[in-house]
Amino acid sequence: MGSPDFSRPWVTGSPDHQNIAMISRFIKTWLLPELIRGLSVTGGYFFKKKFTVQYPDEKTPKSPRFRGLHALRRYPNGEERCIACKLCEAVCPALAITIESEERDDGTRRTTRYDIDLFKCIYCGYCEEACPVDSIVLTDIHEYHFETGASGTISKQDLLQIGDTHEPAIARARQADSPYR
Ligand code: SF4
Ligand code: SF4
Repeated sequence: MGSPDFSRPWVTGSPDHQNIAMISRFIKTWLLPELIRGLSVTGGYFFKKKFTVQYPDEKTPKSPRFRGLHALRRYPNGEERCIACKLCEAVCPALAITIESEERDDGTRRTTRYDIDLFKCIYCGYCEEACPVDSIVLTDIHEYHFETGASGTISKQDLLQIGDTHEPAIARARQADSPYR
């Protein structure tokens, strides 16, 4: 059996150690050193540059890959890009996309219905990645809300309208991201 370590009295719980512990407790109880330490940290940051953003008046920059609300794009001549291949519908892990399509008089195929259930969508971006013609994209729009369950499904007309309205921003984001694709 080893002998007690007298060079470290706190190991043995000696009377000296008990006194020190009692004095330490007394100081902590009455002089509140933690509070003073906390306030000194607050005071130190008070005069430093602030990182807090006053949202919604101030906003942080967003990545060109930001995945917000969806949009369907058109070509510059106004033609819908979507060719109703249904790859986006097939790849969607949340089964959020519903597409119906038909052949037009000119022999091309276009969607007659393109719905996205935004309550089901997990904003993974797989639909965007799968699309061979850059038609369905996720924009940087993230400030939107629904008031009824039914309004959580966004229709083809709405998606095209978002695409028409935000095409310059969408094109800029695609251009900025193109070196990494
Ligand atoms: S972002 Fe993902 S979950 Fe949402 S519609 Fe596209 S593939 Fe489906
Ligand atoms: S959005 Fe793209 S992937 Fe989806 S059906 Fe249209 S062309 Fe195909």
